[in-house]
Amino acid sequence: MDEYTDSDWNWDFYNELVDDVEENKNIIQCISCGKCVGDCPATKVSEFNIRKIISKVLRGDKSVLKDSDIWYCYLCERCKRVCPKDNINIPLLIINLRNESFKKGFGPRYNDLRKYVEMSERFLTNGTVLEDPLDGGLPPERMEELNEICNFARIKYVFKARKNKSKAKNKKRS
Ligand code: SF4
Ligand code: SF4
Repeated sequence: MDEYTDSDWNWDFYNELVDDVEENKNIIQCISCGKCVGDCPATKVSEFNIRKIISKVLRGDKSVLKDSDIWYCYLCERCKRVCPKDNINIPLLIINLRNESFKKGFGPRYNDLRKYVEMSERFLTNGTVLEDPLDGGLPPERMEELNEICNFARIKYVFKARKNKSKAKNKKRS
């Protein structure tokens, strides 16, 4: 856990974000336990670290708006399920930071988006989405959606592998 002194805090940036989206006020409850990081799929495939982003916001460090990191979150909400504090809404904070980044004229760079696609590819191909999205199986409609997304992003081989598996099963049966 990080150690901070009183002089490390600066509430200006935090107050601005709360003015925009009131729910952001809850990030002050963050105890820096890191549970969100441990369960974050973006962290599994990159250096993305939401705890560090929260800590930057609470220290008033606006450089976070220029950082590539805010573009690497999948907005999957896993962090919300493991956070010991009920009301911290990280995906909402990330959306707010992305909006602010655009408003200040930064936004994502081409390489950020390229990396995001690469991360998504790894995320999808290492089975995280398919095997453990909600601690259980995905409903068929969601599988269809993912297939659409993968077709769009030209990520086909995960599903090929799954299709091959089911083909093999069908062969055995016949
Ligand atoms: S919403 Fe973002 S920060 Fe939270 S677990 Fe998903 S990728 Fe990680
Ligand atoms: S799990 Fe919640 S309290 Fe713990 S570091 Fe993440 S946001 Fe903060």
